[in-house]
Amino acid sequence: MTDVMPADNDVENGGGRLFVVSAPSGAGKTTLCVAARNNLPRLVYSVSTTTRRPRGGEQEGRDYFFVSEAQFIEGIRKGLWAEWAKVHDNYYGTSARFIEDHLAAGRDVLLDIDVQGAGQILKHYPDAVTIFIMAPSMAVLCQRLTARGLDSAEVIHKRMKNAEAEIAKKAMYRYVVVNDDLDAAIHRFVSILKGETA
Ligand code: 5GP
Repeated sequence: MTDVMPADNDVENGGGRLFVVSAPSGAGKTTLCVAARNNLPRLVYSVSTTTRRPRGGEQEGRDYFFVSEAQFIEGIRKGLWAEWAKVHDNYYGTSARFIEDHLAAGRDVLLDIDVQGAGQILKHYPDAVTIFIMAPSMAVLCQRLTARGLDSAEVIHKRMKNAEAEIAKKAMYRYVVVNDDLDAAIHRFVSILKGETA
């Protein structure tokens, strides 16, 4: 992080843009974020720290930094997190240093965080570009969560409840992308990011 050198034109532009993406689980956010990273090579993805256990296929440092609850709470005490929240019974946080270093180097930074975290980021970075992604209906969301086969019925129930609470806050976001057709949603999402960085 500390060895990131700014390109000259980035310095003239006065730093990078901060993008915040939130979505209920199952809305297709991960797919859209992967498409964004493939289409915008200058975009830097912030890897969060969490106390959640890794799921199959997840890698330390690529998907998350996995830590114990004690380590996470120590991070709160030390002021390491630009924002943090408890989501579905686990802690999640964004490194303040990571954001600051990359924005100062003129790089655009993408945060994939929940609604509580987005609210905290907007307090510190009122110019952050916020995007909320949602499924076309609660029924479709439930179908997607069930079909991906990652979670138990109990966890799906909890995620659906959480989704309702998150959707209720969508007015806080600058953009809302409804993911009814994946290609169309990718196109709209990437266009928003490109438009904001042009
Ligand atoms: P999952 O455990 O399914 O990867 O993520 C659960 C939720 O936590 C998602 O809504 C995701 O956006 C959110 N999340 C991931 N990282 C962070 C973070 O650093 N801060 C906050 N506030 N939420 C996060």
